[in-house]
Amino acid sequence: MESPGLTWIPTSAGSLSYLVAHETGHQWFYGIVGNDQARQPYADEAATDFVARYVLGLRRASRCSTARLDLSIYRYSSACYYEDIYIQGGNFLDDTRRTMGSTAFWAGMRDYLARYRFKIAGTKTLLDVLDDHTPLNLVPRYEPRFSACTDGRGEPLAGTMGLRGSQPTDIRAERGWHVSRRHPHARQ
Ligand SMILES: [Zn+2]
Repeated sequence: MESPGLTWIPTSAGSLSYLVAHETGHQWFYGIVGNDQARQPYADEAATDFVARYVLGLRRASRCSTARLDLSIYRYSSACYYEDIYIQGGNFLDDTRRTMGSTAFWAGMRDYLARYRFKIAGTKTLLDVLDDHTPLNLVPRYEPRFSACTDGRGEPLAGTMGLRGSQPTDIRAERGWHVSRRHPHARQ
């Protein structure tokens, strides 16, 4: 379980190296650049899990069928939420890195963190910043998985929308639900 500047990992947790890498990744993806974690889980969980698996060399195929990556946490099944957002989402970012080239990709990730440091960003913003860092047009790659980002329908995904209008108590309640459901400690 993560918070800005602090993480908790149960002593009984398996996959310790993975969990440490994943929770540390959250210090950047939602710790430094915030997002609506319920409506846009891609922006924090996919980015974080991508970084963790990239560092550890743990990339693997998803055990669920190909899914959209732009939905709220409420629209994924419990059985496939982790496989869709964390695994497929992270793989999508890694495929984007391979498509752009690592130098351009990491420059884009650093730019995203610098531009939106201590602000609320989101999935569309992350994808747009990566697209800004390559002469390639990434939108055709995005469209099948992120139609809400590319056609304006579906989940609200404007880059700076999010939690500003919510009460802090609502955020904590969402966060607690999110953490208890979404961090299956034994998974890897
Ligand atoms: Zn996480």
